[in-house]
Amino acid sequence: MKKERKVECPHCGHEFHTRSKLVKVTCPSCGRKIPVKMKKEMQKLMKKKGK
Ligand SMILES: [Zn+2]
Repeated sequence: MKKERKVECPHCGHEFHTRSKLVKVTCPSCGRKIPVKMKKEMQKLMKKKGK
């Protein structure tokens, strides 16, 4: 399964999809770094790791 995230660049408004697992991705349009919001999956992982 491919897990892609839809990202909208806050700088230029360009929308694109990324499969990056990084917290930040680079906008292909303006080349700036964009912080990717945490998904619920991540929150689940965090809970599992707790204690
Ligand atoms: Zn951009």
